[in-house]
Amino acid sequence: MESFKQEQDDSIKTPESEQEALRKKVQDLENENALLQLHVEYLEEQHGIDSLTGVKNRRYFERELEYSLKLIRGEINEHRTHGEPLKEISLVFVDLDHFKQINDTYGHPVGDEVLQKVSALLKDSVRETDVVARVGGEEFVVLLRGADESIAVRDAEYVREKIAHMTFDGHPEIDVTASFGVVSSKSSRDAKTLYEKADQALYEAKRAGRNQVVVGKENEEV
Ligand code: GH3
Ligand code: MG
Ligand code: MG
Repeated sequence: MESFKQEQDDSIKTPESEQEALRKKVQDLENENALLQLHVEYLEEQHGIDSLTGVKNRRYFERELEYSLKLIRGEINEHRTHGEPLKEISLVFVDLDHFKQINDTYGHPVGDEVLQKVSALLKDSVRETDVVARVGGEEFVVLLRGADESIAVRDAEYVREKIAHMTFDGHPEIDVTASFGVVSSKSSRDAKTLYEKADQALYEAKRAGRNQVVVGKENEEV
C-alpha cells in the first residue's frame, strides 16, 4: 500500500518538478544573459562606445578633442596617418528639442529609437575621420577634422534639415527637431574654452526658438 502511494505521488509530482527544473533553467539563462549584457556594455564603454546608439561616448570624444588640439598646437605629430598636418577642427553641439515631451507622449522606447535614428544620421553625414559622440541623454557632439567654421555650419544646417524631416514607422505625427552650437578651433585652441563657447551658442539657439544653428562668438569671454 505504501509503495503504491509513493508511485502515485511520483506520477503526480514529475511534470511539476520538470516544470520547476525548466523554470530554473530559464532563470539561470536569463541571469547569464543579463551578466553577458553587462559585460558587453562594460567592454563598449572601455572602447569608447555608447551602447544605446553605437556612436562614441563622452570619454572618447574628450580624448579625441585633446588629441586634435595638441596636433593643432604642434605639441605632438600625427602618427596615425601620413596625411596633411591638422590645422583646424570644428565642433558641432547638437541637442534635441523638447525631447522630454517625446518620451512623455510616446514612451521611453520610442525616445530611444529617435536617439538611434539621429545617431545614424549624424554618422552618415560626416566623414570616417570625424567623430560623432553622444555626450549626454539627448546631446551629441560632432568633431569635424580639418573643417573651418563655414563647413561646420553647412554640415550642421544639413543635419538640422534632415532631422526636421525625419519620419518614424508607426508614428507619422512625431516631430523631431534639434538645436546646434558651432565653434571652430580658430576661436580657441583650448578644449574647455571651445566647449563653453559651443555650449553657449547652443543655448542661444534654444533661446532664439530652437531648430536652428548658432555660431559661437569669436571674442566672447566665457
Ligand atoms: P530642450 O529643448 O530645452 O533641450 O528640452 P528637452 O526636453 O530636450 O530637455 P530636457 O533636458 O528637459 O530633457 C531631456 C530628456 O532626455 C529627459 C530624459 O528623460 C531624456 N533622456 C535622457 N537620456 C535618455 C535615453 O537614453 N533614452 C530616452 N528615451 N530618453 C532619455
Ligand atoms: Mg539637453
Ligand atoms: Mg534637449
